Amino acid sequence: MSIQEGVIKYRLHHRKQDIPVDIDIEAIERWRARFHEMGLIAQDPRRYDGHDFGNISQRCPRHDAPLAFLVSGSQTAHLPHMDARGYALVTHFDIEENRLDAIGATPPSSEALTHAVIYENDATANAAIHIHDPLPWQRAEALGLPITDPRVAYGTVAMANEMKRIMTSGLTPECVMAMGGHEDGIIAWGKDLPSVASALSRYHDQAKQLPA
Ligand SMILES: [Zn+2]
Repeated sequence: MSIQEGVIKYRLHHRKQDIPVDIDIEAIERWRARFHEMGLIAQDPRRYDGHDFGNISQRCPRHDAPLAFLVSGSQTAHLPHMDARGYALVTHFDIEENRLDAIGATPPSSEALTHAVIYENDATANAAIHIHDPLPWQRAEALGLPITDPRVAYGTVAMANEMKRIMTSGLTPECVMAMGGHEDGIIAWGKDLPSVASALSRYHDQAKQLPA
């Protein structure tokens, strides 16, 4: 199975400059650090050829960019702590055209297009977290989690469309899904970071209780 975490597949227009100083990264960084500590947004030389995995985002509308969101930077998941330079602000995107505009000292996560799908299709979503958690991924069916088509590769327009299909079909009342073609990949979204984090930990706990 091809993982290719960390390989940016969309067309990126990235301006390497600091994100605006009025953007507060305190909350998103606190949650990112917590998931890093749990090994869910991290790097492990024994997994996925040592690529960084997992990422986090928060809606961040700007006057000239109403759908803007803040997202952890590409190849940053191995960092236990980071400042604003570890984040990118995605200002504009076009999913069908596979294009994304961003500013930041670091380019946005390779999975930023997946986060864009969420903000475009769910007006109530203000945060999204993508983790790699083997247990709920392996037991997704038993947990009743919707699963993206395993033939669809991560970070592609096809994955974006697949997510959109599931999100708009009413199959995700809990706003959590498993990414079928992306080993251990789970993505969740919701009204704020704490509610997304609690949905992820609920599924992790439920998966642990299921018979192996
Ligand atoms: Zn991933």
